[in-house]
Amino acid sequence: MLTIDRLDAAYSVLPVLKGVSIEVAAGQFVAIVGPNGAGKTTLFKTISGIVIPSAGRLVFDGQDLMSVPPSARAHLGIAHVPEGRQVFPSLTVMENLEMGAYTAAGRRAWRSNLDMILTLMPVLAERRHQPAGTLSGGQQQMLAIGRGLASAPKLLMLDEPSMGLAPAMADFIFERLIDIRRQTNLTILLVEQRVAEALETADYGYVLETGRVVLEGTNATLRADDRVRQAYLGM
Ligand code: ATP
Repeated sequence: MLTIDRLDAAYSVLPVLKGVSIEVAAGQFVAIVGPNGAGKTTLFKTISGIVIPSAGRLVFDGQDLMSVPPSARAHLGIAHVPEGRQVFPSLTVMENLEMGAYTAAGRRAWRSNLDMILTLMPVLAERRHQPAGTLSGGQQQMLAIGRGLASAPKLLMLDEPSMGLAPAMADFIFERLIDIRRQTNLTILLVEQRVAEALETADYGYVLETGRVVLEGTNATLRADDRVRQAYLGM
């Protein structure tokens, strides 16, 4: 579904991604883990088109993304749930979800999608008329995920959904991701600093360090890898 091939990206002269290659198959749940500043968010921004790569190839669903402007990428089926949630604080929960359904696929599937989102995350139904800014951090994260789902994407990209959340709430969010996967069979690309949880949730993972993929493998392989255990799992 998504091929990232030898991608380079930089902020003016600072190289951030250095020859990154990642493959995501349809229906797969892939995690990208790594330390602060490794380039994970930048990688997501190249996929959604906010950052233009300086070299490499991006192919989504058979189409070369380099020729697709950022505004059109969501309509191809790419949903980017950004770091820090970025819900619209003065709009209600329902209005935020409606904003997500701006793609043609999202509009077509709105009713059934809304049912699915509210069933997966019932707190959003309870708070549907409340301004998003009054929700807790975990609830805002669920809303951001719901807004992504409302576009009826083929690929859901989640940038650090557990950021700033207490461990119990972070676990709750990871459980919702498992539910979403089970119910929708969506293709999911997750960026996370909570490496243990990310590798338990996803099927396959990549470790990104200073702009390069240093390791990749199935979740079981990575969890058993000595380098991952020492550097990321505190073992
Ligand atoms: P984090 O988890 O902290 O967000 P990350 O792995 O997502 O880390 P990026 O946010 O992609 O990393 O940042 C990679 C590098 O690029 C860092 O050195 C960061 O300081 C730098 N960087 C990020 N955004 C910009 C920007 N807009 N302009 C200049 N440098 C940037």
